[in-house]
Amino acid sequence: MARLAIAGGSIGGLTAACLLRDSGHEVTVFERSPTELKERGAGIVCLEPTSRYLTQRVGLPIGDFTIRTDYVRYLGRNNQISFEQAHNYRFSSWTTIYRLLLKAFDADRYRLGHDMVGWSVQSNGIDVRFADHEPFHAELLIAADGVGSSARKQLQPNAMSHYAGYVAWRGVVPEGDLDPSLAGRLSEAITYHVSANGHILVYPIPGMDGSVAKGERLINFVWYRNYLEGDDLGHLMTDREGQNRPISVPPGQVADVHQAEVRAAADARLPDDLACLIRYTPELFLQVIFDITVEHMAFERVCLLGDAAFVARPHAGAGSAKAAEDGWALAKALDETPTIETALDRWEAKQLALGRALVERTRSMGRRSQFDNSWTPGDSDLMLGLRGPGD
Ligand SMILES: Cc1cc2nc3c(=O)[nH]c(=O)nc-3n(C[C@H](O)[C@H](O)[C@H](O)COP(=O)(O)OP(=O)(O)OC[C@H]3O[C@@H](n4cnc5c(N)ncnc54)[C@H](O)[C@@H]3O)c2cc1C
Repeated sequence: MARLAIAGGSIGGLTAACLLRDSGHEVTVFERSPTELKERGAGIVCLEPTSRYLTQRVGLPIGDFTIRTDYVRYLGRNNQISFEQAHNYRFSSWTTIYRLLLKAFDADRYRLGHDMVGWSVQSNGIDVRFADHEPFHAELLIAADGVGSSARKQLQPNAMSHYAGYVAWRGVVPEGDLDPSLAGRLSEAITYHVSANGHILVYPIPGMDGSVAKGERLINFVWYRNYLEGDDLGHLMTDREGQNRPISVPPGQVADVHQAEVRAAADARLPDDLACLIRYTPELFLQVIFDITVEHMAFERVCLLGDAAFVARPHAGAGSAKAAEDGWALAKALDETPTIETALDRWEAKQLALGRALVERTRSMGRRSQFDNSWTPGDSDLMLGLRGPGD
């Protein structure tokens, strides 16, 4: 059994940590944040790989931490249903999944305030270095350090991020703040509205405390809107304190002028149900959409996992599922193969294929919505899924 270091303690890092610990490895997670991670990204589509550890290994009923919707629904500008199809999806929130995974891992092996700054490969393993702590010796370093991965920058310096040409405006509203009939409509379906060069989707997620009880949940939206690279995007991403943020602007920090513009655009351009939701959203926040591809994920004693490797646009709802799947596949490869090197080779081939295909598919979905205006309600290619539409 091996001594493993994981840099990054979010959904990808924690899923891998739990699985590898279960396989008998000595696993330590090093998370840069000095405190437990806070709400980020709000709602997530909870595809099966994201929930698999919690259902199969922890034994939690899926309904305890996800909410099921029964329909895929499109609203027209007149607020009437323009398309509806019976279909089940499950939704959760990043925080809910994170907290449950953290609880499933060993608290004394989850080290906060550890900013990995580099490593050196030795004949008998790897020494991982941190900003303010002693180095840690391991046999394998799993870099699960997310979208801005410093490990990726070091190992794959040519892996550039490509701005997609649009951002996701996001927000959540407690369902109790909405008229009960509106809350009811928005919590039984994933609700879309398509307009020129954009679309919005709305779905229910657990409350801030993880509750899935009716009346305590949140309604979450993601509205994709185009901004030109350069001044246009730069102005949007300059927060209330004048600081430019390259990836996301959190709740409370989006400049008033942009919040006002989005609220006005919602009133003018969205069906009443969705405009109302945005009106009731206390603080909007936003995330820049881009994608990143890598040529390799395994490098002798280091591997890249989750968003530290491929970053796919969110249209398939599969980012955390991909991160989790990378962890499941890594644990299986290490279980089945005698040496770390051989295990990594096998693992890499499959995960590269998964990452490439997801990036390609979500690029195409983004192009259809934001530029080609060919996002057609009911088109099965637009279903959410990790391995393919609906899968
Ligand atoms: C608009 C939007 C909507 C999305 N919707 C969905 C969805 O519906 N479903 C879904 O599955 N996914 C969704 N995603 C994607 C999902 O959030 C990510 O794919 C997922 O969080 C990736 O997990 P990860 O663990 O690989 O990386 P991250 O969650 O980014 O975690 C990386 C961790 O590494 C830590 N870290 C960074 N640098 C260091 C360092 N040097 N040393 C130590 N620690 C470090 C960070 O603090 C962080 O905790 C969405 C993303 C966006 C932008």
